Amino acid sequence: MRSNSTSEATPSIVELNQLERLLAEKTDALSQALMQQREAEGQLRLLVEVIRHLSIGVVIMDADFCVTSVNDAYCAISGKSEEEILGKRPPFEDLIKEYPEVYDAAQKSMRLNGAWESELWGKSDCGEKFAIHISITSIIDQTGRLSQYGAIISDVTQRKKDEEHIRYQANFDTLTGLPNRALFVDRLEQSLAAMARADSKLALLFIDLDGFKLVNDTLGHDKGDDLLNEAGRRIASCTRGGDTVARLGGDEFTVIMPNLHDARDAPVVAQRILDALTAPFVLDGTESFVSGSIGITIFPDDAKLSGDLLKNADAAMYRAKELGKANYQFFTADLNEQVVERLSIKNGLIKALERKEFDLYYQPKLSLRSGNFEGVEALMRWDSPDLGMVSPARFIPVLEETGMVVEVGAWAIQIACAQHQKWVDAGLGQKRMAVNLSARQLREMSFVSVLQDILQESNMSPEWLEIEITESMLMSDTESAISSLNVLHDMGIHVAMDDFGTGYSSLSYLKRFPIDTIKIDQAFVAEITSKSDDAEIIRTIINMGKTLRRQVVAEGVETEAQLALLKEYGCDQVQGYLLSRPVPGDALTEFFRAHTD
Ligand code: C2E
Ligand code: MG
Ligand code: MG
Repeated sequence: MRSNSTSEATPSIVELNQLERLLAEKTDALSQALMQQREAEGQLRLLVEVIRHLSIGVVIMDADFCVTSVNDAYCAISGKSEEEILGKRPPFEDLIKEYPEVYDAAQKSMRLNGAWESELWGKSDCGEKFAIHISITSIIDQTGRLSQYGAIISDVTQRKKDEEHIRYQANFDTLTGLPNRALFVDRLEQSLAAMARADSKLALLFIDLDGFKLVNDTLGHDKGDDLLNEAGRRIASCTRGGDTVARLGGDEFTVIMPNLHDARDAPVVAQRILDALTAPFVLDGTESFVSGSIGITIFPDDAKLSGDLLKNADAAMYRAKELGKANYQFFTADLNEQVVERLSIKNGLIKALERKEFDLYYQPKLSLRSGNFEGVEALMRWDSPDLGMVSPARFIPVLEETGMVVEVGAWAIQIACAQHQKWVDAGLGQKRMAVNLSARQLREMSFVSVLQDILQESNMSPEWLEIEITESMLMSDTESAISSLNVLHDMGIHVAMDDFGTGYSSLSYLKRFPIDTIKIDQAFVAEITSKSDDAEIIRTIINMGKTLRRQVVAEGVETEAQLALLKEYGCDQVQGYLLSRPVPGDALTEFFRAHTD
């Protein structure tokens, strides 16, 4: 027993060795742990140093969201010192609270995900706008309890400004600052969806300035820009708070009027815009005048889709132009037919020339001096397989729009010259052949040489060809028009001013351009026997023609009474249904034969 108790008190050698080994292991582990801790502490210090010098703001908060540490970058971003920030709730919290919905969303996200981030605009103490990106994360300790929050804050003012600039350029017209087409379509679609939900009406106004081109061409593009700017301001001043005014391009503006209580509100605004546009625009010290043509369409009565509404408003605007400009028109179902027709005219014209669907008719001109038919006007006809006979008044503008008028116009001159030769060959003598030109043709660089080629091919002397131009053709692109006309006139080709009296009828045109003949517009002739004013205008034009030694032709003569008055006033030539309608070349050959003694 004793020896036993002795053996319990004094450990055996083996036991001692074990103890020693254990001690050594423990010491080893301890010193290793100590080393690791030192290493970790070193790394932590390094980390703290890095964070301190980061350009991104870092803020650490305790579980109560009070700041326990903050780096220099955040002090710079917030404009506060470390002492001012430590121990309090972070300054960025006030900024988040300025946006109540954002603040709610942030709290919800922190609760659910333990993290939240966003970008916010703020204003510094000195009133400067800045933007920051904030990202907050909760930090959970080893026991699973929320112990801290970490926030990273960066200044994104420049990037946000750049983004806003890009967004602005993509959505706003740089000249007027109004929404552009892209934003207009976007707003229209949003408004339409809202109106459909609320069962409300919306009006869309399409505004095109009348006479803008003239200002732009005469005063230059800078002044034209000034006018557009001012026009945009005036239009916007006529609208209500929730309306959108946009510039679609050129001189075209639109107004979206949502929540229309009464469809009659739309014309009230339209009239206000018309009135605002009629006031003179002072550009470069001189007063310029434009007016507006406005088309109105109503959602959902006229259409439900944005594209259809825009087409409707555009068609109604065209109608306003046709009705003499400076007025507004509502979209109607028959306008829709016109839109469809315009489109089928456009499509049909593409193949018309190669399918030989164009034709030329001729209308004779009677000389009141000699009593002979001395001239002829060639008038184009289009026999469309789908639309039947289409009036040139409808298809020529479309040919002009597409540029096809250059090719088709050259074809017409060629056919007309060939017809002239046929009458010469038939022994009917030389009839001066007049062809109508469009602005596009005159502007074409190659036009003079094309005409020379045609004259040479048809073996026709230039003096038997007459080109009819209108004032509006001369108003735009004046310089090149003058030089082309002068070359043609020097070649011996006659030049006639068509539809005289309907435009500016400025005497200066007669002086500046080489014009041999003035054609009095048929609108005056129609009223010559009923309106004394029109009779007086015609008399004045004829007298002016005599003084300036220009030939005067009256068109649209339909009655003997009109003819008698024109004779009395001393008009040189007449043209009209009274003598002959425009007819095919062969029919006119018969006509000439019948009227030649
Ligand atoms: P415009 O040059 O002023 O031609 C006169 C128009 O008046 C013609 O219409 C003619 O048919 C019509 N007219 C002639 N006499 C009378 C009359 O007594 N009463 C009435 N109410 N009308 C009469 P049309 O042929 O329909 O041509 C319309 C316009 O289309 C022309 O007006 C001209 O500006 C243009 N046009 C016609 N052919 C051509 C062409 O080959 N090239 C170009 N660029 N334009 C053309
Ligand atoms: Mg004509
Ligand atoms: Mg005419």
